[in-house]
Amino acid sequence: MTAALMDYDEVLERFEPVLGLEVHVELSTATKMFCGCANVFGTPPNTQVCPTCLGLPGALPVLNGVAVESAMRIGLALNCSIAPWCRFARKNYFYPDMPKNFQTSQYDEPIAVNGSLAVELSGGSLFTVEIERAHMEEDTGKSLHVGGSDGRIHGASHSLLDYNRAGVPLIEVVTKPIEGAEARAPEIARAYVTALRDLLRALNVSDVRMDQGSMRCDANVSLMPRGSSTFGTRTETKNVNSLRSVERAVRYEMCRQGAVLASGGRIVQETRHFDEATASTSAGRRKETSEDYRYFPEPDLVPIAPSDDWVARLRTTLPELPWQRRARAKTEWGLSDLELRDLVNAGALDLIAATVDAGAPAAEARSWWVSYLSQQANSRGVELADLPITPAQLARVIALVAEGALTNNLARQVVDGVLAKEGEPDEIVAAHGLAVVSDDAALTAAVEQALAAAPDVAEKIRGGKVAAAGAIVGAVMKATGGQANAQRVRELVLALVSA
Ligand SMILES: [Zn+2]
Repeated sequence: MTAALMDYDEVLERFEPVLGLEVHVELSTATKMFCGCANVFGTPPNTQVCPTCLGLPGALPVLNGVAVESAMRIGLALNCSIAPWCRFARKNYFYPDMPKNFQTSQYDEPIAVNGSLAVELSGGSLFTVEIERAHMEEDTGKSLHVGGSDGRIHGASHSLLDYNRAGVPLIEVVTKPIEGAEARAPEIARAYVTALRDLLRALNVSDVRMDQGSMRCDANVSLMPRGSSTFGTRTETKNVNSLRSVERAVRYEMCRQGAVLASGGRIVQETRHFDEATASTSAGRRKETSEDYRYFPEPDLVPIAPSDDWVARLRTTLPELPWQRRARAKTEWGLSDLELRDLVNAGALDLIAATVDAGAPAAEARSWWVSYLSQQANSRGVELADLPITPAQLARVIALVAEGALTNNLARQVVDGVLAKEGEPDEIVAAHGLAVVSDDAALTAAVEQALAAAPDVAEKIRGGKVAAAGAIVGAVMKATGGQANAQRVRELVLALVSA
């Protein structure tokens, strides 16, 4: 059943959209939040479990210190205040994939509050999203519903449970209500999740893979009638797992809610599921209120009271953040706003910066990533960052060109070899004999051969038409598979003709 949808422009004429975004991020710590089980994605079901994360009677949690530091670093990078004192709470509910029947989370005492994140929109303008809080919690296990058509519980014959993910450290970042986004609400939702992903990647606290669920977005959307100052009832579209889907889910909910409200209906406060194939949302469960969860302070964990020194030390560990890096790249590399945005959109900025850090000039590094390597990524259907070449390897190829050991043509062959996983650039040069030939004996023979094959050209050069030497140089380059040192060939041509 498809819902009636209101035209997008009409939605905006009659209502103001209000967003709220909740992003869950799995931390890439070595172990889980409250036990020593390994925190690794993709291992066989129920092989990373112990009495604590299975919630067995008498098992006690021990807090992961790295996870706490990661939470504070995320809070600091989001301009939040770090709470001088906070603690965990039990969020009580039953779900088969949560063996303790409560989730250890934070409720009214989160570790970080009141921050902001400036996000860049197409066209280059900035929109500031206010952050309400970032808090720590643990992930649940996973249910696998078998026998249904699309892996959902509806129509399934039975369900399987995998507790490997139970107890994996999570940080939930919650925005304040986002007002004033207007027609750009879907774009702002996407841009915010993008900016948050880039920030978390720079902090090196998570692998932020939306496709693997290590970063998930819940999008709250409501409509406020024009002239009203009271928020409408919101829906929460859960676990949207790509940037594009975040944008589409927000837009769909705006149009669906507009149609419901215009026909005199009421929005039900509920969770909704986003379907990638149809780009539509469908009703999930009625949304619980916080009273339903019977939160109470976790008695098995001591409160956390970070000292000022600890917070100050963590602040010094913050890396150059994405917007700082962009500002620096713009100045140092002399980029226009448009050029910079293209690099950011292509996912090339960090790669170029890393290539420059590995010793390459910025212009060359940029040229390789945005042209040849972008083509390679496109033809393979992968992200630039997922190509099997590292910035250090590319920097080595660029250095070989600068030394005169490779021509641009040979350099591309070496890069192809790296992409084909044949080894390091120097190994590929050696294995394929790709180095530029500057050896006079070999080159002289080739030049003599080319002159003999074109006596008319040789005569022209002898008669003073030096430009004609280009034809001989071209013939030598062709004969040597492009490996000859063209400058040296030219010198030899002129020397041999006048000899
Ligand atoms: Zn465990």
